Amino acid sequence: MAFPLKGDDAARHTPPTSIPKPYWVALSKSCAELIDLSVTSNNLPTDQQWLELLAGNSLETESHQFTNPIASAYSGHQFGVWAGQLGDGRAILLGDIAGQELQLKGAGKTAYSRMGDGRAVLRSSIREFLCSEAMYALGIPTSRALAVVGSKMPVIRESMETAAVCARLAPSFIRVGHFEHFASLQNTERLRELADDLLANHYPNCLDSAESYLALFQNICKKSAALVAQWQAVGFCHGVLNSDNISALGLTIDYGPFGFLDQFQIDHICNHSDHSGRYAYHRQPQIMHWNMACLASAMLPLIELSHASEEAQTLLRSALEEFPMTYAADWQKSFRDKLGLHMPEDADIGLIERLLQLMHDSRVDYTTLFRSLGAIKKDMLPEDILLKDHFVDREGIDLWLKDYLARLARESLDDDTRRTLMNKVNPKYVLRNHLAQQAISLAQQDDFSEVLKLLNILSKPFDEQPEHESYSQAPADHLQAISVSCSS
Ligand code: AMP
Ligand code: MG
Repeated sequence: MAFPLKGDDAARHTPPTSIPKPYWVALSKSCAELIDLSVTSNNLPTDQQWLELLAGNSLETESHQFTNPIASAYSGHQFGVWAGQLGDGRAILLGDIAGQELQLKGAGKTAYSRMGDGRAVLRSSIREFLCSEAMYALGIPTSRALAVVGSKMPVIRESMETAAVCARLAPSFIRVGHFEHFASLQNTERLRELADDLLANHYPNCLDSAESYLALFQNICKKSAALVAQWQAVGFCHGVLNSDNISALGLTIDYGPFGFLDQFQIDHICNHSDHSGRYAYHRQPQIMHWNMACLASAMLPLIELSHASEEAQTLLRSALEEFPMTYAADWQKSFRDKLGLHMPEDADIGLIERLLQLMHDSRVDYTTLFRSLGAIKKDMLPEDILLKDHFVDREGIDLWLKDYLARLARESLDDDTRRTLMNKVNPKYVLRNHLAQQAISLAQQDDFSEVLKLLNILSKPFDEQPEHESYSQAPADHLQAISVSCSS
């Protein structure tokens, strides 16, 4: 456990507060398997005590007892500004199970709730649940979501909503904000414990290094760069990349006003409250780099344990400077794969960037377009390729297709093999906002069937699933503009 209670204010023993008459909204079978939880044919745990456990109404099941539920404090930068201590006001860590931390989000007030009610609403819990599992199926590192449990208990947001608890799993929920917390308190002892815990449990390879804390920093940077490259490739916008929402394991965590790109706009902002576009799609890599700079300053006291201050700063600065290169290499690899270019050429990057520009200019649907690239065959003529109908700049796309066909001709793989590989990286199904909204609207009327249906479709995002074709399609114009606020 990352946060041994020490009688300081870093973590507190915090039993969840119960909710009245809990009921199942959804459970992820694959996540249940991860923790060896047996489920019935209708997707519910065979042990019925799990409902009360995940509602926060009990701390035991037939096989598990969680005697030490805790909430941990963390701090962070919000929208680029130091905000001091701000979490965790509503996530309670029940304990470890099969190598995962089991956390209940929305399980009531903690010592760190400040003005908050410690609750989460049904709407945001379903979004977190579906997106966690969808990202996992896409092969993107993420915290998992085991279940959502609902209650008719009213919760006040912009309007009156009802409460839900989302049960999340991750090998660790440690964030950049945890480091910033101890650094801001100048508590080097706790900072060191935090780093030692991560090293021992999640980055054991770094222990071989003579500079294990520096190696830890470098590895977190690498994982974070790889993560953001995967987000860009799949068209995922996180929405709130505050340093408290950045995992120390390189996982996608804290799903809030996220969105998958529909019509491609390079500077798309998915968070309604992000007025300056700080977390727009094209800024995510730069912002992740910025968050790594926050981590570097927080970890400085650890490097100073074995180096003079100036030397320690230089070491961290040069490690941080690697980020753009690491990211660029990951991004290039991802997009080459998306285009089926397996024998790299320097000019590929220009080809990729030209396509993105054309897509931006014509606001082409991101997921559909990349998926349709796989159907192109080497001996086709540009005029036979239907996807060009999505572009306004006909001359531009004709020229691009001509160059792309010429480029494919230099690839050794045959069309079918290339298509198979491309369809493994260009998903057909992503959690578009209008799909999530449809499932939420029905769930708010006690019909949870659409949540389960979406979960099942999104668990095979690369499969054709012709029976679910409509779930792959771009939203109708009036549904394009769904924007999501931070309220959750
Ligand atoms: P977020 O922007 O959702 O990542 O929230 C930032 C922090 O605010 C979280 O770490 C929570 O601790 C806290 N928070 C958000 N909503 C609530 C709430 N309803 N009650 C208490 N704390 C909250
Ligand atoms: Mg958060």
